[in-house]
Parts: sequence; structure tokens; C-alpha cells
Amino acid sequence: MNASTIIIILLMLFPCLVSAGDLAKENETATARFFSNLLETNDPDIAELTMAMKMMPKGADIHIHYSGAIYAETYLDWVGDKGYCIYDRSDPKLKIEAYRIEMRPKNQLPWENQKFCLDKNGVIANNIFYRKLLEVWSDRDFHNYYHTEEAPDQQFFDTFSYFGQLSNQNLAAGLDKLKIRAKHENVQYLEIMLKKAPSFEYPDLAKALDELDPDADENIVFSALTPYADFMANDPLVTKGISDYIQTEEVAISGMDDDEFRIRLQSYASRGAPRANVFSSLYSAFSAAHASKKIVGVNIVGPENSYISIRDYKLHMLMFKYLKTLFPDVHLSLHAGELANGMVPPERLENHIRYAVEIAGANRIGHGVDIPNEVNALALLHLLKEKEIPVEINLTSNNFILGVSGNEHPIKLYQRYGVPFVISSDDPGVSRIDLTHEFVIFAANYKPSYADIKKTVFNSIRYSFLSSEEKLTELNKLQSRFLIYESEIAKIEKTVHKDMHTQVELD
Ligand SMILES: [Zn+2]
Repeated sequence: MNASTIIIILLMLFPCLVSAGDLAKENETATARFFSNLLETNDPDIAELTMAMKMMPKGADIHIHYSGAIYAETYLDWVGDKGYCIYDRSDPKLKIEAYRIEMRPKNQLPWENQKFCLDKNGVIANNIFYRKLLEVWSDRDFHNYYHTEEAPDQQFFDTFSYFGQLSNQNLAAGLDKLKIRAKHENVQYLEIMLKKAPSFEYPDLAKALDELDPDADENIVFSALTPYADFMANDPLVTKGISDYIQTEEVAISGMDDDEFRIRLQSYASRGAPRANVFSSLYSAFSAAHASKKIVGVNIVGPENSYISIRDYKLHMLMFKYLKTLFPDVHLSLHAGELANGMVPPERLENHIRYAVEIAGANRIGHGVDIPNEVNALALLHLLKEKEIPVEINLTSNNFILGVSGNEHPIKLYQRYGVPFVISSDDPGVSRIDLTHEFVIFAANYKPSYADIKKTVFNSIRYSFLSSEEKLTELNKLQSRFLIYESEIAKIEKTVHKDMHTQVELD
């Protein structure tokens, strides 16, 4: 029996399966037509695009910071729940600062402080203060009207100092909010940077790190890191600290997975800290990711243009390389190239992405905005493509913090050179966006085909740090979600849009 005979017999036996396959293909084509009609104009209907993007399965958000994902309104609710208050003015004598949360219950404060500290109801009753609070705790209204402005990147990073401590007290409640948001916008998996890994400082050993030339050779750096790592490996305080950290992380997400949702965590260090702090925090992060199935990767966060981040960049990459020798199974997603012309001297735009890949061994790159300024960017693009190292693109964040948007953003460069990428949200609470919004910008500004949009969504699961079996399960679920989605969009395409075309013809 030849192949065509087998196909004919199968067609006779299972006609419904074949027609279901045909229908799915038809729905996919209709969805592609819907998007090309919507996007082919210079002035796309953003409202309809938003509706379509909100409905669309978006796979995963694999670049998202927990404390930056929670909206200021939620933080204010938590202030109320805890009986805390927020200062309405600054007074150095009382050591108080406007818009700061007092982390002690209001009724336990000295009378002088109580007078200037508003509880949640006090904040809500004062609309001017309430609006200003939202502006200080996020990027809201930053560009809308004239006010005395911080630099945007300063505004963005400063917000975290207002709610960082409070966010750590409400991990489970905050994560629950993010799960609900994810489900509402058809996101099935979150890979979240939840809490910084603990650091352990030994002054004598720290001195050896502080004395290193930031451009020192690998061997010299490794020989300064080894005694530090050995000390950490044998210190019971460190073992306890890391296991407490793992426990906090695992407890925070326990019971959250269900048939439609999965959550995993990334551990991280802060790149603006002193060297011993960065290294020991990275050691803890690697150690936790190695030990826990729920912590699937390690990252490094914080402004990439701060004095220390710039000075120690290569040193940090060597720390990653060193720790990879101790924990080779740990996956890395590194913020790299979150820089723009003018923020730093041109030489500093020339190698961050390359070092993250070639020295640290990054599996994914966060942002990657300065790629066109890298030395030999062309070879780097080929390398990213060849090694299948995807870039996590955060359009709103890049626009606000770096001032890079539209044609200046390298997203099309990545696409043209075959470098895989995903769309992610970074800090949706501070930026006051959601993942849907990021897909709307992606589609409206860069006019990808529906096939490209779909590929970008699948990339978010394909390049996540889930295990191979988990990825397969999630990819199948994503496929099923798309079948439903495309049948819904096909209906719109055949009814609403058809009527719209007729209307235009009649007019
Ligand atoms: Zn980020």
C-alpha cells in the first residue's frame, strides 16, 4: 500500500478529524487576515487591536520584577491592612520624608510623627496627595504635564525605595494579584524575579575583591573569588541563610500552579552593590537555583549605568563565569545592554551584551537595547542567532528609562537578523501597563505579520527555563489556546469585519 492510499483510507475513516484540521487552518488564515487589515493602515485602530491582543494567548512573561509589577494602589491597600501610614511632608528634624511609608503601626509612633503621617483613609480623603502619591510611586503622568522632573531613569529606579520593604511583607498576596492579572490577559506562565538572594560579607575577603583591578585577567579574578566561595560553602550561617531564602521563595508560590497557570522564580543580585555583596549574593542565587526546582534561573538587576555597574561590569561577568564552574546546571538570563547613547561614554556601549554571552554564558539577554553600538554588532547578531540566545524586549520600559522607542529600538534589527526575541513587561506596576499593552505597541509600531506575532508568543515558552517536559506540556496548552482564539477571531473577521467592508462599499 503506498502513502497516498493510506491517506485516502484515513480520510474515509476519520473525515471529522480532517475537516477539523481544515477548519483550524481556515481560522488561522482568517486571523492573519484580521491582523493584516488592522495593521496595514498608518493609523491602526488601537482600541480593536487592544481587544484582540487582550484576548490573544500570550504564553509567558519571562522578564518581570515582582515589586515593580504591583500597582501603587495595591501598595496603598497593604499600608491600610497593616495599620501603617505615609508621611505628607519632609522634616529632617523628625527624620521623616514625604511619600515614605512608616513601617510601624501609626498608633505606636511618637505624637509629633503621627501628626504628619496619613493612614490609608487619610490618603484617600486627600485627593491632591493621593494623586501625587501615585505619581511618586510610579511613572504615572510623568510626561503629561509640566512639573519639576527627575531624570526618567532616576524617577523609575527611585520608586522602588518607597515600596520595596512593604512588597517583601506581602509576597503571597502580591503574587496572587499577578496570577489573576495573568489569567485575565490569557498568560499561562510567569517567570518572576521575586527576591534578591542574600549576601554574606566577610571584611577580610571583601578587601581582596575591592583591591582587584576591574579589568584584571580571569585567573587573577578567579583566585580572589575562590577563598570567598570556599568560605561560603563551609559557613553554617550561609547554608542556613540560603535554605531560609529558598523556603521563603517556595512558600510564596506554593499551591499557585493549576491547570491553566504555572509560576517559577528567578533569583538575582543587585549590580550597584559593593563587590563582596554582589559576589556573595550571586553565590546564594546560584546555590538556590541549583537546589530548588522552583527557582529556574539567575539574573542581575539594577541600573546598568550607575558608577559601580559600569566600573565592575566585566568583573561581574567573570563572577558568573566562575559560579558556572561550581553550578554548571544553572540557567542565566542577564540584563545586558539596557543603555542608550548619551547615558554613558560610547566605549561603554560596546561590549555589555557580548560579555554577557561570551564571558558569563547568558542563556537569555534582558533588554539588549544598545546592540547597534556594540563593537562588531554584526558578528554578535549572528552569534545570538546561532546559539539561539533570545532577547527579552521591554518596549514601554525602554521608552521611559532609556528614551528609546519607534525606529530607534533594535527590535526590527533582531528580527531581520534572525535573533529570537520575546515580548515581556519588566515592571508593569511602575510603568502602569500590562503585557497586552506591550503586544499592542509591538504590533502597532512594528507591524509584524500574524505569523511573527504568534512565533514571538511561542518563543516565550520555548525559551523559558522550564524543564523540557514542562515546556512540552505548556506548548501543547498554548497550541490549544490558539485554536480557540483563532476560531473567535475568525468569527469576527467573517461577521463584523465583513459587514464593515460592505458598509465602506455602500458608502
Ligand atoms: Zn528588568
